[in-house]
Amino acid sequence: MNDKAYNPFEAAQTQCDEIAEVLGLETATRDFLREPMREYQFSIPVHMDDGKMKIFRGFRVQHNLARGPGKGGIRFHPQETIDTIRALSMWMTWKCAVVDIPLGGSKGGVICDPHNLSAREQEQICRGWVRQIARDVGPYLDVPAPDVMTNAQMMLWMLDEFEAIHGGKYPGFITGKPISVGGSQGRKEATGYGVIFTVREALKELNLKPENTSTSVQGFGNVAQFAIQLYNQMGGKVVCVSCWDQKENQANSFYKKDGIDLDELLKITDPFGGIEKDKARDLGYEILSGDAWIEQDVDILIPAALENQITTDTVDKISKSVKLIAEGANGPTTPKADKILKEKGIFVIPDFLANAGGVTCSYFEQVQSNMNYYWSKDEVFGKLDEKMTSAFISVSEFAQKRKLHMRDAAYTIAISRVAQACRDRGWV
Ligand code: GLU
Repeated sequence: MNDKAYNPFEAAQTQCDEIAEVLGLETATRDFLREPMREYQFSIPVHMDDGKMKIFRGFRVQHNLARGPGKGGIRFHPQETIDTIRALSMWMTWKCAVVDIPLGGSKGGVICDPHNLSAREQEQICRGWVRQIARDVGPYLDVPAPDVMTNAQMMLWMLDEFEAIHGGKYPGFITGKPISVGGSQGRKEATGYGVIFTVREALKELNLKPENTSTSVQGFGNVAQFAIQLYNQMGGKVVCVSCWDQKENQANSFYKKDGIDLDELLKITDPFGGIEKDKARDLGYEILSGDAWIEQDVDILIPAALENQITTDTVDKISKSVKLIAEGANGPTTPKADKILKEKGIFVIPDFLANAGGVTCSYFEQVQSNMNYYWSKDEVFGKLDEKMTSAFISVSEFAQKRKLHMRDAAYTIAISRVAQACRDRGWV
């Protein structure tokens, strides 16, 4: 039995149904929360560099806008599906609610692989995405952001297209912009740093000092890189990272017993987080299989790549030494594997709490953009730490009081906040 073929949206709906049952929500509220309020699927025609036209498929799903404008990233991925986007939009609703920011949940995507696209083609996809949906998104309606394989430059192309269509300046339309054009200080670091703020709080509960711990990380993109940076600054040692090798079409793990050197690895990493294998070997890294990150004898695991990674196939590979899992990615653990983690007694910081630093800083960026006045980096990090720490403490206290695991506690808090907003508006 495995859960490899699981559908993330069905998993997200099951999670929602289970908590709705515990909360005793009315049928209409359950029916409302388990489906997106609105979804858009569209074609994006692009004139490719070879002179041919190519049609890309784009999506935007607005799961729930009861607590405020929709918020959520846009993913560029060859295996993107509407169901993945539906699940991710629902998780965005819970994420914004658990950190108590006044935003709803959305997500977008395009089926494409930026590795194989020139900068001009990427720009055409970004502008084309905005052209298809320009009337249904906006600073007070639905605010996109970067996600897997999208970046600040792409956000700026999207903003530029939106402003051209609407004939004005709307810096609050999108977040994750370059700092020179309305971006926030600290947005780039925010998701990874946020993961480590929650790790720091969890380690206090586990009576462990960061400097006495070691970690293995799945992924080496934006989230992983900044999580490693802050964790190293706190004295922790990362012994293994994994990443996708585009040429080999498989993942590899990079191991160094005395700890990886973030700066030296960054020098041999492409913009999508792919580490050059041969150069890493020359630097003394052991190259292991893609799954090896999960088998390490470490204290902490940080899955910071994609959904559906800790499954019934891989969960038993987790070493007995692991005490804490901080989910940097969205949906890395399947529900079946999650049950096994509970049996193993591993403390899990669920994705929509652990990685909420990104959207929290996006909220700060939106506030700054809308007032066109910008804060210093220290101010942003101070506010981010405060928000993440207080969200972690609320979830952890609730979990202890109700004898729940962290994930169930976080869901209970988030879903009741969203259900309340829907009721207050008279929607259910
Ligand atoms: N894509 C990030 C996430 O999954 C950030 C979303 C945002 O900043 O709106 O949380």
